[in-house]
Amino acid sequence: MHFLVQTKPYPDEALESYLLRLARDNSYYGYSELADILWQWLAEQDHELEGALPLELSKVDVYHARQASSFRIRALKLVAQLADINAGNILSLAWRRSNFKFGNLAAVSRNELTIPLELLRTDNIPVCIECLSESSYVPFYWHLKPYKACHKHKTQLITHCEECYDLIDYRASETFLECSCGLKITSSEQLNDADFKIAIAIAIALAGNNSQKIVGLISWFAKIKQLDVSDTDFNRTFVDYFSTWPDGFTAELDLITNNARLKQLNPFNKTKFNSVYGSVIRDGQIAATSNRKNKVLDEIINYFVELVDSNPKAKHPNIGDLLLCTFDAAVLLNTTTEQVYRLHQEGFLNCAYPQKKHEQLRADSHVFYLRQVIELQQAFATEKPLTKKQFIAPW
Ligand SMILES: [Zn+2]
Ligand SMILES: [Zn+2]
Repeated sequence: MHFLVQTKPYPDEALESYLLRLARDNSYYGYSELADILWQWLAEQDHELEGALPLELSKVDVYHARQASSFRIRALKLVAQLADINAGNILSLAWRRSNFKFGNLAAVSRNELTIPLELLRTDNIPVCIECLSESSYVPFYWHLKPYKACHKHKTQLITHCEECYDLIDYRASETFLECSCGLKITSSEQLNDADFKIAIAIAIALAGNNSQKIVGLISWFAKIKQLDVSDTDFNRTFVDYFSTWPDGFTAELDLITNNARLKQLNPFNKTKFNSVYGSVIRDGQIAATSNRKNKVLDEIINYFVELVDSNPKAKHPNIGDLLLCTFDAAVLLNTTTEQVYRLHQEGFLNCAYPQKKHEQLRADSHVFYLRQVIELQQAFATEKPLTKKQFIAPW
């Protein structure tokens, strides 16, 4: 078996788009017809590959395969052979699961780019018809939830069919310019300025290979505000919030601090940090980048440095004496929980409660004083400039 037409992938093409074009160029009705034939052919070549390529285009990307992802890769290599192209050129189009973590969020990678998995669109892929009329393929960034306008044509991506109001998804319709109902996709949506700003920021970040900064911030913001990135107003809210960063964030923390003072029941040196500030530190990790820079955590540390400074140790416990859990202490110290145990054993950090012999501290044991952790953080972070680092918005 061999394909007569050797379709070449575009470097920024989505894997699903490439497989659909390969099928069409070779006169198959669509991907599903090709997949049906490939299913039998793959099984004949290598019985482990039976079912390694799904029949639905929306399930074909490597990250969907989980445990079977090595079979999926092997199957795609065979498809590359049939199409007479370098296997690397097909594999570089796929999203694969990554070991990198945005806090507790799973991540996927495509070439150098790593993003939280939750930012990949699942049930729709909006399109720019101007892009499609120039070159008939779908770039991978149309699959990213925050990318809602075309940065090249300054138009809103089209999300809905005018006729049946269904969400547009070329993986379901198996065509680029038609809805599943058969109607030609037409443009009708007004450009949203914030969507355009974000589209430009994503395009610049992709070109410079530093997109983790913006995708991490987007996922962090969605988490703390409990917003859906797909919501129409998400980008507007995000742009507004970060155009005055860190003012809004600081004001929110100030409000929590003041409420804690008003509603205080127990002495602060017996109060858990999380019962006051919730998961602010844990969530801050979502804004991580691969080079260990994190604008949100920097701001959280700045805030608590100032809080501890303005609430010096006194006879009566104050808010600087809250109790941190081991996990949060590790995040603030940019280290592991094992290292935090060691810092405790070596006398750098005191425990609020006497430990029983051989008692293991758990990640959620609230035993470390916020004050001490912040002071230790400052002692270690000597390379940090004394003045606040200026935050530059990514657009
Ligand atoms: Zn376009
Ligand atoms: Zn339709």
